[in-house]
Amino acid sequence: MLDDLKEILDIQELDMKMIRLMRVKKERLKELLQIEELRKELHSQTQDKEAEIEELGKNIQTLEQKIQEVNAKIKKLESQQTNIKKADEFNAITQEMTHAERERIAIEQKVSDLVDRRVAEEEMLTRIKDSLKGSELSSMNLEKEILSSIGLINEEGTSLKEQRDALASKVNQEILQIYDRLLRNKKDRVIVAIENRTCSGCHIVLTAQHENLVRKGDNLVFCEHCSRIHYWQESVALEGSAVATKRRRRRAATA
Ligand SMILES: [Zn+2]
Repeated sequence: MLDDLKEILDIQELDMKMIRLMRVKKERLKELLQIEELRKELHSQTQDKEAEIEELGKNIQTLEQKIQEVNAKIKKLESQQTNIKKADEFNAITQEMTHAERERIAIEQKVSDLVDRRVAEEEMLTRIKDSLKGSELSSMNLEKEILSSIGLINEEGTSLKEQRDALASKVNQEILQIYDRLLRNKKDRVIVAIENRTCSGCHIVLTAQHENLVRKGDNLVFCEHCSRIHYWQESVALEGSAVATKRRRRRAATA
C-alpha cells in the first residue's frame, strides 16, 4: 500500500508542476488577449475620430454652400435695387440685404467654429495614430516574447506528460483512479502527509485513531474533512530508499 502511494506521490509532483505550468500559460494567454484588446480599442478610437472629422467636413461644406447662396441673394438684391426709384421699395430691399448679410456673418461664424473644431480633432487623430503605432511596435515585441514562452511551456508540458504516462502505466491503477478523481476536484495535492496530527491539505486536526490507521498504512485512509488521502510522512521517508532501490532493480530487469 505504502509503495503504491509512494509511486503515486511521484506522479502527484509531476501533476503539480503541470498545474503550475498551465496557470502560467493561462496568464500569458490572458496577456495576449489584453494586447489585442488595447489594439482594437485604439483602432476603434481612430475610426470614430475619422468619422467625426468627415462629418465636420460635410457640415462645413453645407454651410459654405449656404454662404454662396446668401451671396447670390445679396447680389440679386443689389441689381434689383439699381432699377428701383421708389424710396419705400428701395428701403425694403436694403433691409432685406442687411438681413441677408447678418445671416451670412452668422453662418461664417459657424464655419469658423467648425474649422477650429476640425483642426483640434485632426490633432487628436494624429495623437491616437502615433500611440497606435507605438503600441503596435511594443506589443509586437511583447507578443513575440509571450508566444515563444508559450512554446516553451508547451514543450515542458509535453515532456511532463510523457514522464507521467510512463509512471502511470506502472502504478496501482485502482489507487491511481481514485487519485485522479480527487485531483480533478481539488486541482491541488490530494495525497498529503499528517503533520502534528493535522491534515496538511485542509489543516483540520485529526483524531488519534485516524492517525493510527494512517501510521499502519494497510489501507487507503481519507481525510474525513477534505477527502484527501493521508500518508505517514516518516514511513514514506523510511521506505523511500527501499522503494527507490526496488524500482531501480525493476528497471534494470526490464532493460
Ligand atoms: Zn483534510
